[in-house]
Amino acid sequence: MVSRKETGRILKFIIVLSIFFWLPGMLFYAAAVPEDFEVIGLENRENQKILLQLYPLDPILNDGQKTYFLIEKKYINELRDSGLNFTVETARFAPFLIRQTLSGLKTQGGLNGAYHSYQETAQELKKLASTYPSLSRLLIIGKSLEQRNIYALKISRNPGSDEEKPGVVFLGCHHAREWISVEVPLLLGKYLLENYSSDSRVKSLVDSAMIWIIPLVNPDGLEYSILNYRLWRKNRRYNPDGSYGVDLNRNYSYAWGYDDYGSSPTPSSAVFRGAAPFSEPETEAIRNFFSSRRLSAALSYHSYSQMILYPWGYTDQPAEDEPLLAALASEMAGLIYQVNGRLYQTGRASSLLYVTNGDFTDWAYGTFRIPAFTVELPPVDLLEGGFLNSEDDINSIFLENLPAALYLIEWAINNHQNSSISKEGKEKIRLEKKIKNVVKDKMGAIPPGREF
Ligand SMILES: [Zn+2]
Repeated sequence: MVSRKETGRILKFIIVLSIFFWLPGMLFYAAAVPEDFEVIGLENRENQKILLQLYPLDPILNDGQKTYFLIEKKYINELRDSGLNFTVETARFAPFLIRQTLSGLKTQGGLNGAYHSYQETAQELKKLASTYPSLSRLLIIGKSLEQRNIYALKISRNPGSDEEKPGVVFLGCHHAREWISVEVPLLLGKYLLENYSSDSRVKSLVDSAMIWIIPLVNPDGLEYSILNYRLWRKNRRYNPDGSYGVDLNRNYSYAWGYDDYGSSPTPSSAVFRGAAPFSEPETEAIRNFFSSRRLSAALSYHSYSQMILYPWGYTDQPAEDEPLLAALASEMAGLIYQVNGRLYQTGRASSLLYVTNGDFTDWAYGTFRIPAFTVELPPVDLLEGGFLNSEDDINSIFLENLPAALYLIEWAINNHQNSSISKEGKEKIRLEKKIKNVVKDKMGAIPPGREF
């Protein structure tokens, strides 16, 4: 049986399709909205939240005042009884109005289309874990401020037991508006599970490692970006000065608040570091996750600018293990380049991008001495779309990042004994694999005031 959620998604797809391929006339529209559905509008954010808790629907449109949801008629009475303040807007959704709404959407952003919302991410992770119970397990590693789950999907042979295998973590969406950064780790998890039985390389990686997929570190921010303001970046902390949000990627403890360039003490700033290290439940969840298990490498996806960054971010000095970090980054960039010919620059975060303090990557490397990277996904600049990647590009961006992700897992497996760099024998660390692909760093000037 098709679930409510799936029905909603299918219909959302149809209605979106009908909008984009809209032809004059009511007939086409009438065909796109089935009789047993209504479009309802909710003005109030609290009501929207309750609705989403009751029914895992996605918003279909947001016109700046109301958010509209497609819902089966049979639930309308149930909804009325729930006391939710909503309006039935089906009649208003004439093609003319949809067109007007759409033009407003260019700045407002209410559609998440093929991108995964919080609900859709949770659904996808649950589906994967239940389809592949012998290879995966879904954990809730913490809750966001607004009580959404932060999920980690473990992929491994014997996922139920604690294994002495190298752990490699892929994270996404510290920053709400970087929607593509949810998709890449999610698709990586899906790829590993779906190809385990048919691809011998995937099988050997999954057999020999514990791969952790944490695609949505900032679920509250993502939902806010979908429903209210597309370019929202931080979490949804209500700050004492009346502003909202802490930059989760400035809230980790390593070199937290080192200076006021790499993060800001001002709550309204886009790079506000929070009141204290790990003041936010989202970063605390990541800290607890890392503290309770042994991990060997980590990669945190962001967008945009096509870069692979390694520590340090807080200082322009090189990290002790920079030769290794740089070699791994170069190899990954080379593998990425081979897929679509897209150049990802590599470099020390502080010199290639800008100084940051309290970010995930400095913390993971600085605290656990494991190779840790930030990958800034496409596009390369604002002119190419900035944070607004086309839905059509999701898969190709994932595919070009896939070999690099597999390579990092492979490296962790081959260097398991030595992969915790702080252990004795630092000098013994060698890249087992010869570096084949070297992409030269190409320094580009980053205008001030842009945060990724
Ligand atoms: Zn980011």
